[in-house]
Amino acid sequence: MQIFYPMITISNRVQALSPSQTLAMSQKSAELKAQGIDVINLSVGEPDFPTPLHIKEAGIKAINDNFSFYSPVPGYLSLRQAICNKLKTENGLNYTPEQIVVGNGAKHAIANVLQATINPDDEVIIPCPSWVSYTEMVKLAGGKNIFVSAGIEQDFKILPQQLEAVITPKTKAIILCSPSNPTGSVYNKEELQALVNVLAKYPDVLIISDEIYEHINYTGQEYVSMATFPEISDRTVVINGVSKAYAMTGWRIGYCAAPIAIAKAVTKLQGQVTSGVSSIAQKAAEAAYTGSQNCVEEMRKAFLRRRNLVVSLARQIPGLEVNEPEGAFYLFPKVSSYFGKTDGKTKIENSSDLAMYLLNEAHVATVDGGAFGAPGYIRLSYATSDDNIRRAMERISSALSKLQ
Ligand code: PMP
Ligand code: GLU
Repeated sequence: MQIFYPMITISNRVQALSPSQTLAMSQKSAELKAQGIDVINLSVGEPDFPTPLHIKEAGIKAINDNFSFYSPVPGYLSLRQAICNKLKTENGLNYTPEQIVVGNGAKHAIANVLQATINPDDEVIIPCPSWVSYTEMVKLAGGKNIFVSAGIEQDFKILPQQLEAVITPKTKAIILCSPSNPTGSVYNKEELQALVNVLAKYPDVLIISDEIYEHINYTGQEYVSMATFPEISDRTVVINGVSKAYAMTGWRIGYCAAPIAIAKAVTKLQGQVTSGVSSIAQKAAEAAYTGSQNCVEEMRKAFLRRRNLVVSLARQIPGLEVNEPEGAFYLFPKVSSYFGKTDGKTKIENSSDLAMYLLNEAHVATVDGGAFGAPGYIRLSYATSDDNIRRAMERISSALSKLQ
């Protein structure tokens, strides 16, 4: 029997999107593992710890207590109040629950804010290297990405004069991320103040501050939220969530803390697209914010130990240029010294070739820096065991040594 398929065209909007390369690389590594190949996955960035017990128990309790009905669109009031308390005690910020909208992860919260604020051809400034999804979410909202690049020589942090040079009458927003994915760089208070001094001159620019790695901070300095600067606090949107700090990536809880008009717009959007997020996950997130915070510090210490390990091993590999990331759980070495080299079979032309070479030859999954707007680098997520880090770095070292 012949089957006829209807001709369905995919929308231009979605055709223009690139698939998430962090998730794609992780999927590729899972496929190789399923074929019996011992792949070490340093691609996707998520804590390797299980969710702490008291948080899991709160989720189970929520099921047993019948939290099985639709929740308010912006999230339970008790969760939004717990988030306001967190913002007050940890960041010194004054928010009311009306300003908080809980979404399906920080990713969804950012997408919501962009959908709620960006008009066609509005410009959004993205400091690069930047997390893979910002650019695609800006495109989806009809906006135009304006990139500002900062390489390893400036610790991947943009300078105020670079920011000022790209602001135009069309600039609608800037997305900042500190600690940064993919570089782990952290802007200190003075560096943030210097950027704020520029932004203060342009009162129409919205600041979207992705603070998801706030707690994975090795600077020894207190974390400074962008919303604490009075010059810009009334037009700053803070993005945060439980994925990284509480090892809850699969629970899908993030939020925006925003000026009231934006929070209302995001709620209206969410009410038509997703409704309130999972009731069970919200109760678990509430337990994360109101319960003991010891788990956060324990995981931070484990990430710090691994940071030290991966940096010391990477620095022993000739040809890799490595900075010392002060936060998150990523290393972003410069690999361009390998371009033009070959192991006799494969010629390395760029960082995408190198990431594929490492996957095929060393069975270590990394992500091409090009995915983050920074060709010439690769990203390694060290949110994995010390043993995996050691084995992966040995394999990388041995595979790279074959390139002549
Ligand atoms: N922002 C950054 C910089 C991230 O690395 C991630 C995790 N991929 C997110 C946002 C999204 O996190 P969530 O799991 O809360 O959606
Ligand atoms: N934070 C992770 C990463 O960047 C999660 C994957 C994703 O959502 O991009 O690898």
